[in-house]
Amino acid sequence: MKEIMSYLPDELEIEPKFRKKQIFNWIYDKYVENFDDMKNLPKDLREKLKTEYIINPLTIINREIATDGTEKFLFGLKDGHTVETVLLKMKEGETDDEGNIISEDRYTVCVSCQVGCKVGCSFCLTAKGGFVRNLTPAEIVAQVWMMKKVKNFNKEKTLNVVYMGMGEPLDNYDNMVKAIKIISNENSLHIAPRRQTLSTSGIAPKIEKLATEDLGINLAISLHAVDDKLREELIPMNKAYNIHSVIEAVKKFPVDRRKKILFEYLVIDNINDDEKSANKLVKLLNGIKAKVNLIYFNPYPGTNYKRPTKHKMENFREILTKKGVICTIRESKGMDISAACGQLREKECSCSN
Ligand code: SAH
Ligand code: SF4
Repeated sequence: MKEIMSYLPDELEIEPKFRKKQIFNWIYDKYVENFDDMKNLPKDLREKLKTEYIINPLTIINREIATDGTEKFLFGLKDGHTVETVLLKMKEGETDDEGNIISEDRYTVCVSCQVGCKVGCSFCLTAKGGFVRNLTPAEIVAQVWMMKKVKNFNKEKTLNVVYMGMGEPLDNYDNMVKAIKIISNENSLHIAPRRQTLSTSGIAPKIEKLATEDLGINLAISLHAVDDKLREELIPMNKAYNIHSVIEAVKKFPVDRRKKILFEYLVIDNINDDEKSANKLVKLLNGIKAKVNLIYFNPYPGTNYKRPTKHKMENFREILTKKGVICTIRESKGMDISAACGQLREKECSCSN
């Protein structure tokens, strides 16, 4: 069976052409997941589609809601593997005294691209289970589609999408690029590329390749360390693509006039949180339109790494901002449901053992 969400409208071999638009409309505007429900299609076409395509490749296995409105989904795939998607509530909507809506809730979807990950970062729970397989374009697209469906969001509701869930997006390059094209397409989810951010641990040649696709998305680099020795310990792939090669690749990436490249820096207590590292980071980013996002290390059972204190985080940020580098500290959302990547899946696995 083919997965219909892996296709752009032009690629579907369905005649006449207007039928494709109807099918996309049922799927992406009405969240229908059954060809039988597509009432304006002739019966024989519906029967044919049923034998050739599946619509929704995901089933909900678990759903947890945190007190701050963050929701974490564990999805089952057709072959029995599981992946996570997190829906982050970024901003509470506002109503006036009479209950009229002034602004809507704002959400960001954190999407996974692989079952497991090959990169093997020492701090990452996803890495612990090793690599299983790449997700198909449909499995990536459907994660965003499912958020809209279960939350009953209307067609126009804008969401931000970050490819920062489980797996390394640039290690699943072709499917990832295809999924981004579908998610951006006006006949499917129609999410503006500038609302989408791909995060990579730094596969330098793939960053250069991505730059040539002209997708218009934002790029985030998981830097986490400023010298190669430490970065190798944290991200073993740094042996193949060192900091210099990543920075050089980033310099070739097209950045929208009003945008910046996001550098993620996971702060681990007593490992990479010293003043010297902060100063070196400033130097490293010299000449790049950069923004730094400091992330608190989120501990889990079995790790020796520790979460830094708020004081240390703020000190680190001070050094950067004083030298003119824009820097934010990422709020920890969904703490009570362990919303960091890989953590729900891990919980589910230990329950079934
Ligand atoms: N593979 C890509 C994208 C997904 S990783 C990458 O590495 O950029 C998802 C994000 O979660 C990364 O920014 C990573 O640094 C962060 N992360 C992984 N383990 C974490 C932990 N224990 N605590 C906090 N953030 C973590
Ligand atoms: Fe893979 Fe990213 Fe986790 Fe590293 S941090 S193991 S690249 S998912």
